[in-house]
Amino acid sequence: MSLYVRAARHAWRMLGVVGFGVLLVVTVDRLYGHSNIAFAAAILLLLITNAPMLRFNCPRCGKNAFFRGVFVVPWPNRVCSRCHLDLAETHTQNR
Ligand SMILES: [Zn+2]
Repeated sequence: MSLYVRAARHAWRMLGVVGFGVLLVVTVDRLYGHSNIAFAAAILLLLITNAPMLRFNCPRCGKNAFFRGVFVVPWPNRVCSRCHLDLAETHTQNR
């Protein structure tokens, strides 16, 4: 499986977690009238599930697929932004 496909799957998973976090905060807010703790829990969940993002690095130059220059975007690059390696064609082990 290519780096791009694995990174895209991670992006979809993150989208699901974001949706779950929003639902959690809204639900708790309606039930209890406040959502500070639920909000904190949602942020913590996001941080934990997003940790694997740092492993999606270009096998040639090491540039992270989620970075466009110095900016982090929620969707991975299909082509490495530094060395222009095709990440959709490159089959790599997780590292
Ligand atoms: Zn590269």
